[in-house]
Amino acid sequence: MAEREGVIKYQLDYTPSVACDEALLVSIQQWRLTLFQLGLIGQDPARYGGLGYGNISIRYGNGFIISGTQTGELERLTPEHYAIVEHCDPTTNHIVAHGPVKPSSEALTHGAVYALDDTIQAVIHIHSPEIWQKRGQLFLPETPADVPYGTPKMAQAVKQLWQEDAFKLSPVFAMAGHEDGIMSFGSDMTEAGMPLLNTFQWARAFELTEAIESGARDAGEKHF
Ligand SMILES: [Zn+2]
Repeated sequence: MAEREGVIKYQLDYTPSVACDEALLVSIQQWRLTLFQLGLIGQDPARYGGLGYGNISIRYGNGFIISGTQTGELERLTPEHYAIVEHCDPTTNHIVAHGPVKPSSEALTHGAVYALDDTIQAVIHIHSPEIWQKRGQLFLPETPADVPYGTPKMAQAVKQLWQEDAFKLSPVFAMAGHEDGIMSFGSDMTEAGMPLLNTFQWARAFELTEAIESGARDAGEKHF
């Protein structure tokens, strides 16, 4: 792929500080673990130059709490692995954050989703080759292939999808310019996570059906 995963592209004013209250993180922690165990958030030496991928956030104050940069390899996060974004302006590419760790490199795209509507309280970004490759069959809305992640252009592309009412049926969308990049959002963690899991299951079902059909075709060719 043309871009490197995990590279922070926005202008960041970051102040190291203590972790946020663990009680704020109950639902985000549950979903982070589930998505890690499914390989949708993680780190793999064979993918994306071995850098961590996927991140998760919840709205908090005027900003949001998001998993820290390069935490993908860890199965279980602690409050020390979350950054508090106080201010995020996707149009000027600017983030103000504090916490024990810097925010994820894709925090700007999370900020762009929160800016769409006050009812959006949770945002998830995963990497799924299964969903990404089947995004056409799954009728997923997508941001254009020439728009890279974590940029003001991505923020604009997400806003355009929203204005086109592309999320009427599902909050899941693909980033065509970010290999395997899928996002979802909702009024809470479950509203963001469940449609994502459903989409993942559908993508795997399509893959299975195609494998069975191509196996049957191969077997047929051998016999006749
Ligand atoms: Zn990504």
